[in-house]
Amino acid sequence: MTQRVAVVGGGISGLAAAFHLRELATAREIPLEVTVLEASTRTGGALHTIVREGFVLEAGADSFISDKPEALDLAGKLGLEGDLMGTLEAHRRAFVIHRGKPVEVPRGFSLLAPALIAPILETPLFSLTGKLRILIEPFIKARRGGGDESLAGFVRRRLGQEALDRLVQPLAAGIYMGDPAMLSMQAAFARFVMLEREHGSLMRGMRALRRNPAGGAGGVRWNLFLSLRGGMASMVRAIEDRLGESIKLGAEAIDLARNGAGWRIVMRDNSEIEADAVVCAAPAYAAARLLREVDADLSRALASIEYVSSATVNLAYDAAAMPDLPDGFGVLVPAIERRRIAALSFSSLKFLNRAPTGKVLMRAFVGGALNPEIMRLSTEAMIDVVRDELREILGIRSAPLFTYAWRWPRSMPQYQVGHLERVAEIEQQAAAVNSFALAGAAYRGVGIPDCVRSGIRAAESVFSQLAAQG
Ligand SMILES: Cc1cc2nc3c(=O)[nH]c(=O)nc-3n(C[C@H](O)[C@H](O)[C@H](O)COP(=O)(O)OP(=O)(O)OC[C@H]3O[C@@H](n4cnc5c(N)ncnc54)[C@H](O)[C@@H]3O)c2cc1C
Repeated sequence: MTQRVAVVGGGISGLAAAFHLRELATAREIPLEVTVLEASTRTGGALHTIVREGFVLEAGADSFISDKPEALDLAGKLGLEGDLMGTLEAHRRAFVIHRGKPVEVPRGFSLLAPALIAPILETPLFSLTGKLRILIEPFIKARRGGGDESLAGFVRRRLGQEALDRLVQPLAAGIYMGDPAMLSMQAAFARFVMLEREHGSLMRGMRALRRNPAGGAGGVRWNLFLSLRGGMASMVRAIEDRLGESIKLGAEAIDLARNGAGWRIVMRDNSEIEADAVVCAAPAYAAARLLREVDADLSRALASIEYVSSATVNLAYDAAAMPDLPDGFGVLVPAIERRRIAALSFSSLKFLNRAPTGKVLMRAFVGGALNPEIMRLSTEAMIDVVRDELREILGIRSAPLFTYAWRWPRSMPQYQVGHLERVAEIEQQAAAVNSFALAGAAYRGVGIPDCVRSGIRAAESVFSQLAAQG
Protein backbone atom coordinates (compact mmCIF):
# COMPACT_ATOMS: atom_id res chain seq x y z
CA MET A 1 0.00 0.00 0.00
CA THR A 2 1.28 3.48 -0.83
CA GLN A 3 2.23 5.41 2.27
CA ARG A 4 1.80 9.16 2.45
CA VAL A 5 4.19 11.66 4.01
CA ALA A 6 3.24 15.31 4.39
CA VAL A 7 6.08 17.83 4.68
CA VAL A 8 4.88 21.05 6.30
CA GLY A 9 6.97 24.01 5.09
CA GLY A 10 8.57 24.39 1.66
CA GLY A 11 11.77 26.18 2.66
CA ILE A 12 15.10 24.49 1.88
CA SER A 13 14.72 22.20 4.94
CA GLY A 14 11.32 20.90 3.83
CA LEU A 15 12.36 20.63 0.18
CA ALA A 16 15.49 18.68 1.13
CA ALA A 17 13.35 16.36 3.29
CA ALA A 18 10.86 15.77 0.46
CA PHE A 19 13.61 15.21 -2.09
CA HIS A 20 15.39 12.73 0.16
CA LEU A 21 12.16 10.88 0.95
CA ARG A 22 11.72 10.38 -2.80
CA GLU A 23 15.30 9.14 -3.09
CA LEU A 24 14.83 6.65 -0.25
CA ALA A 25 11.54 5.36 -1.67
CA THR A 26 13.03 4.91 -5.14
CA ALA A 27 16.16 3.17 -3.81
CA ARG A 28 14.13 0.74 -1.70
CA GLU A 29 11.32 0.40 -4.28
CA ILE A 30 8.71 1.37 -1.73
CA PRO A 31 5.59 3.20 -2.94
CA LEU A 32 5.54 6.56 -1.17
CA GLU A 33 3.50 9.69 -1.84
CA VAL A 34 5.19 12.88 -0.63
CA THR A 35 3.28 16.17 -0.39
CA VAL A 36 4.89 19.50 0.50
CA LEU A 37 2.46 21.92 2.14
CA GLU A 38 3.74 25.49 1.75
CA ALA A 39 1.75 28.36 3.28
CA SER A 40 2.98 31.10 0.96
CA THR A 41 2.74 31.48 -2.81
CA ARG A 42 6.30 30.24 -3.48
CA THR A 43 8.69 27.61 -2.20
CA GLY A 44 12.22 28.34 -1.00
CA GLY A 45 11.52 30.29 2.22
CA ALA A 46 14.67 32.33 2.89
CA LEU A 47 16.02 31.44 -0.58
CA HIS A 48 14.47 33.90 -3.00
CA THR A 49 16.12 35.28 -6.15
CA ILE A 50 14.71 37.90 -8.51
CA VAL A 51 16.18 38.49 -11.97
CA ARG A 52 15.54 41.98 -13.27
CA GLU A 53 17.10 43.98 -16.12
CA GLY A 54 20.10 41.64 -16.16
CA PHE A 55 20.69 41.90 -12.38
CA VAL A 56 20.47 38.83 -10.17
CA LEU A 57 19.02 40.03 -6.86
CA GLU A 58 19.08 37.88 -3.76
CA ALA A 59 16.27 38.80 -1.40
CA GLY A 60 17.48 36.24 1.15
CA ALA A 61 20.52 33.95 1.41
CA ASP A 62 23.18 34.66 -1.23
CA SER A 63 25.64 31.80 -0.67
CA PHE A 64 26.46 28.69 1.32
CA ILE A 65 29.61 27.28 2.81
CA SER A 66 31.13 24.25 1.14
CA ASP A 67 33.00 22.77 4.09
CA LYS A 68 29.74 21.39 5.44
CA PRO A 69 29.02 19.20 2.41
CA GLU A 70 25.23 18.78 2.42
CA ALA A 71 24.24 21.76 0.23
CA LEU A 72 27.06 21.05 -2.22
CA ASP A 73 26.04 17.39 -2.43
CA LEU A 74 22.43 18.39 -3.03
CA ALA A 75 23.49 20.77 -5.81
CA GLY A 76 25.39 17.84 -7.36
CA LYS A 77 22.38 15.51 -7.21
CA LEU A 78 20.28 18.22 -8.83
CA GLY A 79 22.74 18.50 -11.74
CA LEU A 80 23.78 22.03 -10.77
CA GLU A 81 27.58 21.50 -10.56
CA GLY A 82 28.11 23.57 -13.68
CA ASP A 83 26.23 26.51 -12.14
CA LEU A 84 28.26 26.65 -8.93
CA MET A 85 30.60 29.57 -8.46
CA GLY A 86 32.89 30.77 -5.69
CA THR A 87 33.39 34.31 -4.49
CA LEU A 88 35.64 36.62 -6.54
CA GLU A 89 39.10 36.24 -4.98
CA ALA A 90 40.30 39.64 -6.18
CA HIS A 91 37.82 41.46 -3.93
CA ARG A 92 38.05 39.16 -0.93
CA ARG A 93 38.17 41.79 1.79
CA ALA A 94 35.64 43.09 4.26
CA PHE A 95 35.28 46.50 5.83
CA VAL A 96 33.79 47.70 9.05
CA ILE A 97 32.49 51.16 9.84
CA HIS A 98 34.63 53.06 12.33
CA ARG A 99 33.59 56.59 13.33
CA GLY A 100 31.35 56.77 10.29
CA LYS A 101 33.86 55.53 7.68
CA PRO A 102 34.89 52.11 6.31
CA VAL A 103 38.08 50.54 7.65
CA GLU A 104 39.40 47.15 6.47
CA VAL A 105 38.82 44.21 8.81
CA PRO A 106 42.30 43.26 10.10
CA ARG A 107 43.85 40.46 8.06
CA GLY A 108 43.70 37.05 9.74
CA PHE A 109 40.66 37.95 11.85
CA SER A 110 38.12 35.17 11.44
CA LEU A 111 34.69 35.90 12.94
CA LEU A 112 35.88 36.10 16.54
CA ALA A 113 39.48 35.07 16.51
CA PRO A 114 42.64 36.91 15.46
CA ALA A 115 45.47 34.87 13.93
CA LEU A 116 48.02 37.63 13.22
CA ILE A 117 49.56 40.26 15.47
CA ALA A 118 50.72 42.91 12.96
CA PRO A 119 47.28 43.65 11.47
CA ILE A 120 45.89 44.16 14.99
CA LEU A 121 48.71 46.62 15.80
CA GLU A 122 48.24 48.48 12.52
CA THR A 123 44.44 48.81 12.37
CA PRO A 124 42.86 52.15 13.31
CA LEU A 125 39.87 50.14 14.55
CA PHE A 126 41.03 49.79 18.17
CA SER A 127 42.59 52.13 20.74
CA LEU A 128 46.05 51.24 22.07
CA THR A 129 44.44 49.77 25.18
CA GLY A 130 42.01 47.81 22.99
CA LYS A 131 44.90 46.42 20.93
CA LEU A 132 46.90 45.39 23.99
CA ARG A 133 43.82 43.75 25.43
CA ILE A 134 43.42 41.66 22.27
CA LEU A 135 47.11 40.76 22.13
CA ILE A 136 47.26 39.41 25.69
CA GLU A 137 44.62 36.83 24.68
CA PRO A 138 47.11 33.90 24.61
CA PHE A 139 47.96 34.61 28.26
CA ILE A 140 44.37 34.55 29.48
CA LYS A 141 43.52 31.29 31.18
CA ALA A 142 41.06 29.05 29.37
CA ARG A 143 37.68 28.77 31.03
CA ARG A 144 37.12 25.70 33.15
CA GLY A 145 33.80 23.92 33.20
CA GLY A 146 31.57 23.10 30.30
CA GLY A 147 28.54 25.37 30.73
CA ASP A 148 27.24 27.55 27.92
CA GLU A 149 28.17 31.23 27.72
CA SER A 150 26.96 34.22 25.73
CA LEU A 151 28.96 35.48 22.75
CA ALA A 152 29.43 38.81 24.57
CA GLY A 153 30.68 37.06 27.72
CA PHE A 154 33.14 34.91 25.77
CA VAL A 155 34.59 37.76 23.71
CA ARG A 156 34.84 40.17 26.67
CA ARG A 157 36.67 37.47 28.60
CA ARG A 158 39.13 36.57 25.85
CA LEU A 159 39.55 39.72 23.75
CA GLY A 160 37.96 42.60 25.64
CA GLN A 161 35.05 44.99 25.13
CA GLU A 162 36.51 46.88 22.16
CA ALA A 163 36.96 43.73 20.07
CA LEU A 164 33.35 42.86 20.87
CA ASP A 165 31.90 46.27 20.04
CA ARG A 166 34.04 47.12 17.03
CA LEU A 167 34.41 43.80 15.23
CA VAL A 168 32.81 40.67 16.65
CA GLN A 169 29.32 42.09 17.16
CA PRO A 170 28.98 43.23 13.52
CA LEU A 171 30.63 40.06 12.14
CA ALA A 172 28.27 37.84 14.15
CA ALA A 173 25.28 40.04 13.27
CA GLY A 174 25.96 39.17 9.64
CA ILE A 175 24.90 35.59 10.44
CA TYR A 176 22.32 35.79 13.21
CA MET A 177 21.24 39.45 13.28
CA GLY A 178 21.33 38.69 17.01
CA ASP A 179 22.19 40.31 20.32
CA PRO A 180 25.65 39.09 21.44
CA ALA A 181 24.52 39.26 25.07
CA MET A 182 21.97 36.54 24.27
CA LEU A 183 23.63 34.37 21.58
CA SER A 184 24.92 30.98 22.70
CA MET A 185 28.60 30.20 22.17
CA GLN A 186 28.04 26.46 22.21
CA ALA A 187 25.19 26.50 19.70
CA ALA A 188 26.33 29.26 17.38
CA PHE A 189 30.13 29.42 17.64
CA ALA A 190 31.14 25.95 18.81
CA ARG A 191 34.38 25.92 16.83
CA PHE A 192 35.71 28.83 18.90
CA VAL A 193 34.76 27.11 22.15
CA MET A 194 36.75 24.16 20.81
CA LEU A 195 39.74 26.38 19.93
CA GLU A 196 39.84 27.64 23.51
CA ARG A 197 39.45 24.13 24.89
CA GLU A 198 42.02 22.49 22.59
CA HIS A 199 44.65 25.24 22.44
CA GLY A 200 43.95 27.29 25.58
CA SER A 201 43.75 30.39 23.36
CA LEU A 202 41.97 31.53 20.19
CA MET A 203 45.12 33.06 18.76
CA ARG A 204 47.20 29.92 19.34
CA GLY A 205 44.36 27.82 17.94
CA MET A 206 44.05 29.99 14.83
CA ARG A 207 47.80 29.80 14.23
CA ALA A 208 47.74 26.02 14.55
CA LEU A 209 44.87 25.91 12.06
CA ARG A 210 46.73 28.11 9.61
CA ARG A 211 49.78 25.84 9.83
CA ASN A 212 47.69 22.73 9.44
CA PRO A 213 44.30 23.63 7.97
CA ALA A 214 43.24 19.98 7.78
CA GLY A 215 43.72 19.35 11.49
CA GLY A 216 42.19 20.63 14.70
CA ALA A 217 38.76 22.07 15.39
CA GLY A 218 37.08 19.41 13.28
CA GLY A 219 39.39 20.03 10.31
CA VAL A 220 37.34 22.95 9.08
CA ARG A 221 38.51 24.95 6.10
CA TRP A 222 36.90 28.28 6.60
CA ASN A 223 35.37 30.83 4.33
CA LEU A 224 34.61 28.87 1.21
CA PHE A 225 31.38 30.45 0.05
CA LEU A 226 29.57 29.21 -3.03
CA SER A 227 26.58 30.46 -4.95
CA LEU A 228 24.80 29.50 -8.16
CA ARG A 229 24.99 31.39 -11.41
CA GLY A 230 21.26 32.02 -11.54
CA GLY A 231 21.06 32.76 -7.80
CA MET A 232 20.20 30.60 -4.82
CA ALA A 233 16.66 30.03 -6.09
CA SER A 234 18.11 27.80 -8.86
CA MET A 235 18.42 25.13 -6.21
CA VAL A 236 14.79 25.60 -5.23
CA ARG A 237 13.61 25.48 -8.88
CA ALA A 238 15.62 22.29 -9.48
CA ILE A 239 13.99 20.55 -6.49
CA GLU A 240 10.58 21.84 -7.57
CA ASP A 241 11.16 20.31 -11.01
CA ARG A 242 11.84 16.95 -9.36
CA LEU A 243 8.88 17.12 -6.98
CA GLY A 244 6.39 18.53 -9.50
CA GLU A 245 2.75 18.19 -8.50
CA SER A 246 3.66 17.13 -4.96
CA ILE A 247 4.08 20.76 -3.94
CA LYS A 248 0.95 22.55 -2.75
CA LEU A 249 1.27 26.33 -2.52
CA GLY A 250 -1.03 28.55 -0.43
CA ALA A 251 -1.38 25.52 1.84
CA GLU A 252 -1.00 26.62 5.47
CA ALA A 253 -1.28 23.85 8.04
CA ILE A 254 -2.85 25.13 11.26
CA ASP A 255 -3.36 22.01 13.36
CA LEU A 256 -2.24 18.42 13.63
CA ALA A 257 -4.37 15.65 15.08
CA ARG A 258 -3.84 11.92 15.41
CA ASN A 259 -5.70 9.70 13.05
CA GLY A 260 -4.98 6.16 14.25
CA ALA A 261 -1.24 5.62 13.73
CA GLY A 262 -1.20 8.48 11.21
CA TRP A 263 -2.24 12.13 11.04
CA ARG A 264 -5.03 14.50 10.08
CA ILE A 265 -3.66 17.89 9.08
CA VAL A 266 -6.09 20.77 9.38
CA MET A 267 -5.48 23.49 6.80
CA ARG A 268 -6.19 27.24 6.98
CA ASP A 269 -9.17 26.80 4.58
CA ASN A 270 -10.60 24.16 6.96
CA SER A 271 -9.87 21.32 4.56
CA GLU A 272 -8.10 18.27 6.00
CA ILE A 273 -5.28 16.16 4.64
CA GLU A 274 -4.50 12.65 5.82
CA ALA A 275 -0.96 11.36 6.07
CA ASP A 276 0.85 8.37 7.53
CA ALA A 277 3.77 10.53 8.66
CA VAL A 278 4.57 14.22 8.99
CA VAL A 279 7.84 16.13 8.65
CA CYS A 280 7.40 19.56 10.17
CA ALA A 281 9.88 21.94 8.51
CA ALA A 282 8.03 25.15 9.37
CA PRO A 283 9.62 27.64 11.82
CA ALA A 284 9.59 26.52 15.49
CA TYR A 285 6.74 28.90 16.41
CA ALA A 286 4.59 27.40 13.62
CA ALA A 287 5.53 23.87 14.73
CA ALA A 288 4.54 24.87 18.29
CA ARG A 289 1.11 25.84 17.12
CA LEU A 290 0.63 22.68 15.06
CA LEU A 291 1.55 20.46 18.02
CA ARG A 292 -0.56 22.21 20.71
CA GLU A 293 -3.03 19.34 21.05
CA VAL A 294 -0.55 16.57 20.30
CA ASP A 295 2.06 17.36 22.96
CA ALA A 296 1.67 20.52 25.05
CA ASP A 297 5.18 20.28 26.56
CA LEU A 298 6.84 19.91 23.17
CA SER A 299 4.72 22.77 21.85
CA ARG A 300 5.84 25.03 24.73
CA ALA A 301 9.50 24.12 24.24
CA LEU A 302 9.25 24.93 20.52
CA ALA A 303 7.53 28.24 21.25
CA SER A 304 10.44 29.25 23.49
CA ILE A 305 12.80 29.56 20.50
CA GLU A 306 12.89 33.26 19.70
CA TYR A 307 13.04 34.74 16.20
CA VAL A 308 14.02 38.17 14.94
CA SER A 309 12.88 40.00 11.84
CA SER A 310 15.05 41.64 9.21
CA ALA A 311 14.87 43.00 5.69
CA THR A 312 17.17 43.29 2.69
CA VAL A 313 17.27 46.19 0.27
CA ASN A 314 18.92 45.57 -3.11
CA LEU A 315 20.05 48.70 -4.95
CA ALA A 316 21.08 48.75 -8.63
CA TYR A 317 23.34 51.58 -9.86
CA ASP A 318 25.21 52.80 -12.88
CA ALA A 319 28.92 52.26 -12.17
CA ALA A 320 29.65 55.68 -13.70
CA ALA A 321 27.57 57.35 -10.99
CA MET A 322 29.49 55.73 -8.13
CA PRO A 323 32.13 57.45 -6.03
CA ASP A 324 35.30 55.46 -5.17
CA LEU A 325 34.03 52.55 -3.11
CA PRO A 326 35.94 50.21 -0.80
CA ASP A 327 37.14 47.25 -2.88
CA GLY A 328 35.66 44.27 -1.06
CA PHE A 329 32.67 42.05 -0.44
CA GLY A 330 31.00 44.50 1.85
CA VAL A 331 30.84 46.69 4.89
CA LEU A 332 29.75 45.71 8.39
CA VAL A 333 28.18 48.28 10.65
CA PRO A 334 28.74 47.90 14.43
CA ALA A 335 25.73 48.70 16.60
CA ILE A 336 27.98 51.06 18.59
CA GLU A 337 28.10 53.33 15.51
CA ARG A 338 24.36 53.94 16.00
CA ARG A 339 23.50 53.73 12.32
CA ARG A 340 20.37 52.21 10.86
CA ILE A 341 21.83 49.48 8.65
CA ALA A 342 23.58 46.36 9.95
CA ALA A 343 25.60 45.41 6.88
CA LEU A 344 26.09 46.13 3.23
CA SER A 345 27.21 43.69 0.52
CA PHE A 346 28.81 44.75 -2.72
CA SER A 347 27.03 41.90 -4.48
CA SER A 348 28.55 42.54 -7.91
CA LEU A 349 32.08 42.43 -6.43
CA LYS A 350 31.33 39.31 -4.41
CA PHE A 351 30.04 37.10 -7.24
CA LEU A 352 30.25 37.11 -11.03
CA ASN A 353 27.12 37.68 -13.01
CA ARG A 354 25.21 39.73 -10.45
CA ALA A 355 25.03 42.93 -12.51
CA PRO A 356 25.38 43.73 -16.23
CA THR A 357 28.64 45.34 -17.41
CA GLY A 358 28.90 48.94 -16.28
CA LYS A 359 26.41 48.45 -13.44
CA VAL A 360 26.79 47.87 -9.72
CA LEU A 361 24.58 45.87 -7.36
CA MET A 362 24.54 46.44 -3.59
CA ARG A 363 22.47 44.95 -0.85
CA ALA A 364 21.80 46.33 2.61
CA PHE A 365 20.65 44.37 5.67
CA VAL A 366 18.45 46.10 8.21
CA GLY A 367 16.63 45.10 11.39
CA GLY A 368 17.60 42.21 13.64
CA ALA A 369 17.71 42.04 17.43
CA LEU A 370 19.62 45.31 17.82
CA ASN A 371 17.59 47.49 15.47
CA PRO A 372 14.00 46.21 15.46
CA GLU A 373 12.36 49.67 15.08
CA ILE A 374 13.22 49.93 11.39
CA MET A 375 10.87 47.03 10.65
CA ARG A 376 7.94 49.27 11.57
CA LEU A 377 8.71 51.65 8.69
CA SER A 378 6.93 51.48 5.35
CA THR A 379 9.01 49.91 2.59
CA GLU A 380 9.53 53.34 0.96
CA ALA A 381 10.73 54.83 4.25
CA MET A 382 13.05 51.84 4.77
CA ILE A 383 14.61 52.36 1.34
CA ASP A 384 15.04 56.08 2.11
CA VAL A 385 16.85 55.20 5.35
CA VAL A 386 19.19 52.88 3.44
CA ARG A 387 19.90 55.57 0.83
CA ASP A 388 20.61 58.14 3.58
CA GLU A 389 23.05 55.72 5.18
CA LEU A 390 24.79 55.00 1.84
CA ARG A 391 25.21 58.73 1.31
CA GLU A 392 26.64 59.32 4.77
CA ILE A 393 28.88 56.25 4.95
CA LEU A 394 30.05 55.91 1.35
CA GLY A 395 29.18 59.22 -0.27
CA ILE A 396 26.71 57.66 -2.74
CA ARG A 397 24.50 60.55 -3.83
CA SER A 398 23.11 59.33 -7.15
CA ALA A 399 19.68 57.77 -7.38
CA PRO A 400 19.63 54.00 -7.87
CA LEU A 401 18.34 52.64 -11.20
CA PHE A 402 15.91 50.66 -9.09
CA THR A 403 15.62 49.19 -5.61
CA TYR A 404 14.09 46.01 -4.33
CA ALA A 405 13.22 45.54 -0.65
CA TRP A 406 12.15 42.27 0.92
CA ARG A 407 10.96 41.79 4.48
CA TRP A 408 11.82 38.69 6.48
CA PRO A 409 9.43 38.72 9.46
CA ARG A 410 10.38 36.28 12.24
CA SER A 411 12.75 34.50 9.86
CA MET A 412 15.94 34.28 11.88
CA PRO A 413 15.93 31.88 14.84
CA GLN A 414 18.04 33.05 17.75
CA TYR A 415 20.30 30.47 19.34
CA GLN A 416 20.26 31.85 22.85
CA VAL A 417 22.40 30.68 25.78
CA GLY A 418 21.21 27.16 26.68
CA HIS A 419 19.97 26.50 23.12
CA LEU A 420 21.61 23.07 22.83
CA GLU A 421 19.94 21.80 26.01
CA ARG A 422 16.61 23.15 24.81
CA VAL A 423 17.07 21.45 21.43
CA ALA A 424 18.11 18.15 23.06
CA GLU A 425 14.89 18.29 25.08
CA ILE A 426 12.83 19.11 21.97
CA GLU A 427 14.44 16.25 20.04
CA GLN A 428 13.77 13.82 22.85
CA GLN A 429 10.12 14.86 23.07
CA ALA A 430 9.70 14.84 19.27
CA ALA A 431 11.19 11.34 19.05
CA ALA A 432 8.38 10.13 21.31
CA VAL A 433 5.75 11.37 18.80
CA ASN A 434 5.06 8.52 16.35
CA SER A 435 5.56 8.99 12.60
CA PHE A 436 6.78 12.52 13.07
CA ALA A 437 10.02 14.49 12.67
CA LEU A 438 11.15 18.09 12.92
CA ALA A 439 13.48 19.87 10.50
CA GLY A 440 14.59 23.44 10.01
CA ALA A 441 16.88 26.29 10.91
CA ALA A 442 15.59 26.51 14.47
CA TYR A 443 17.57 23.59 15.86
CA ARG A 444 21.12 22.66 14.88
CA GLY A 445 22.40 25.28 12.48
CA VAL A 446 20.89 28.12 10.48
CA GLY A 447 23.11 27.85 7.41
CA ILE A 448 21.80 26.24 4.23
CA PRO A 449 23.94 23.06 4.59
CA ASP A 450 22.67 22.68 8.19
CA CYS A 451 19.08 23.04 6.98
CA VAL A 452 19.60 20.49 4.19
CA ARG A 453 21.10 18.09 6.74
CA SER A 454 18.14 18.58 9.08
CA GLY A 455 15.77 17.77 6.19
CA ILE A 456 17.72 14.62 5.28
CA ARG A 457 17.72 13.43 8.89
CA ALA A 458 13.98 14.06 9.26
CA ALA A 459 13.33 12.15 6.03
CA GLU A 460 15.41 9.20 7.26
CA SER A 461 13.64 9.24 10.59
CA VAL A 462 10.06 9.12 9.24
CA PHE A 463 11.06 6.69 6.50
CA SER A 464 12.44 4.20 9.00
CA GLN A 465 9.42 4.69 11.28
CA LEU A 466 7.09 3.90 8.37
CA ALA A 467 9.21 0.92 7.31
CA ALA A 468 9.09 -0.43 10.89
CA GLN A 469 5.30 -0.18 10.85
CA GLY A 470 5.37 -2.31 7.70
C1 LIG B 1 17.80 37.46 4.88
C2 LIG B 1 18.51 36.15 5.14
C3 LIG B 1 19.78 35.94 4.62
C4 LIG B 1 20.43 34.72 4.84
N1 LIG B 1 21.65 34.51 4.27
C5 LIG B 1 22.21 33.27 4.34
C6 LIG B 1 23.37 32.95 3.57
O1 LIG B 1 23.89 33.76 2.79
N2 LIG B 1 23.88 31.68 3.69
C7 LIG B 1 23.31 30.72 4.49
O2 LIG B 1 23.81 29.59 4.55
N3 LIG B 1 22.19 31.00 5.20
C8 LIG B 1 21.63 32.23 5.13
N4 LIG B 1 20.47 32.50 5.81
C9 LIG B 1 19.89 31.43 6.62
C10 LIG B 1 19.19 30.37 5.77
O3 LIG B 1 18.86 30.90 4.52
C11 LIG B 1 17.94 29.91 6.48
O4 LIG B 1 18.25 29.50 7.80
C12 LIG B 1 17.27 28.75 5.75
O5 LIG B 1 17.02 29.07 4.40
C13 LIG B 1 16.00 28.38 6.48
O6 LIG B 1 15.36 27.33 5.82
P1 LIG B 1 14.10 26.60 6.46
O7 LIG B 1 13.52 25.74 5.41
O8 LIG B 1 14.49 25.94 7.75
O9 LIG B 1 13.10 27.77 6.89
P2 LIG B 1 12.37 28.85 5.98
O10 LIG B 1 13.21 29.23 4.84
O11 LIG B 1 11.92 29.89 6.93
O12 LIG B 1 11.12 28.08 5.41
C14 LIG B 1 10.01 27.75 6.19
C15 LIG B 1 8.81 27.66 5.25
O13 LIG B 1 7.69 27.19 5.98
C16 LIG B 1 6.55 27.90 5.52
N5 LIG B 1 5.54 27.81 6.59
C17 LIG B 1 5.53 28.45 7.78
N6 LIG B 1 4.44 28.08 8.50
C18 LIG B 1 3.77 27.17 7.74
C19 LIG B 1 2.58 26.43 7.95
N7 LIG B 1 1.88 26.54 9.08
N8 LIG B 1 2.15 25.61 6.96
C20 LIG B 1 2.85 25.49 5.79
N9 LIG B 1 4.00 26.19 5.55
C21 LIG B 1 4.47 26.99 6.52
C22 LIG B 1 7.07 29.30 5.26
O14 LIG B 1 6.21 30.01 4.40
C23 LIG B 1 8.43 29.01 4.66
O15 LIG B 1 8.37 28.89 3.25
C24 LIG B 1 19.80 33.70 5.62
C25 LIG B 1 18.53 33.93 6.14
C26 LIG B 1 17.87 35.13 5.91
C27 LIG B 1 16.48 35.33 6.45
